[in-house]
Amino acid sequence: MEPTMSPPQTLPDDAPEYKVCPDCYAEGRDPYLLKVETHFYIKRAPRYKGGYRISAYCKEHESKRVVARKQARMERLAQAERESGETPPELAKIREDERRWHRGRGSMAGAYAALPEEKKVERRAKAKVYAKAWRQEQDPKKHEEALERKRQHYRENREQILAQQRQRRREEGRGPRKVKAPAEPAEDA
Ligand SMILES: [Zn+2]
Repeated sequence: MEPTMSPPQTLPDDAPEYKVCPDCYAEGRDPYLLKVETHFYIKRAPRYKGGYRISAYCKEHESKRVVARKQARMERLAQAERESGETPPELAKIREDERRWHRGRGSMAGAYAALPEEKKVERRAKAKVYAKAWRQEQDPKKHEEALERKRQHYRENREQILAQQRQRRREEGRGPRKVKAPAEPAEDA
């Protein structure tokens, strides 16, 4: 697991007020000496002096590094899978966790279930967009083929799909889809 940073807490009394972010410095940003309280994560850490530690990088670079590490790990695992033709157990577990998450049964299920319905809708929509972008990036040709299959399926089963959509809307109490009223005929006919 990646180390997770707890949300910013109040700055301990003996903490330094300013700290250098090495990445900000490397990028030639000005300033690179940043206020600890607003720009760094402060994490409870019992084994550290004072019982806390300050993140090595500013919040922005810290999260960029977490994302980069995650990406590198996924690439390494995918590469191993391609070369050996076998899915590494670690990768299988990541995929299973993702599936669980999407089914709302993972370790985060409680947090997800507790969200208000409009937030859930928002999350699902976002997940869909991300997943699509990810697939597209992985293999544009395969993605286009999948889209074409989808279109074909829609063309062949249009009536049935529309009936299902109407049914779902009824069940969710959303009522029929609003159709724009046709333009009024001219008054002076
Ligand atoms: Zn930085």
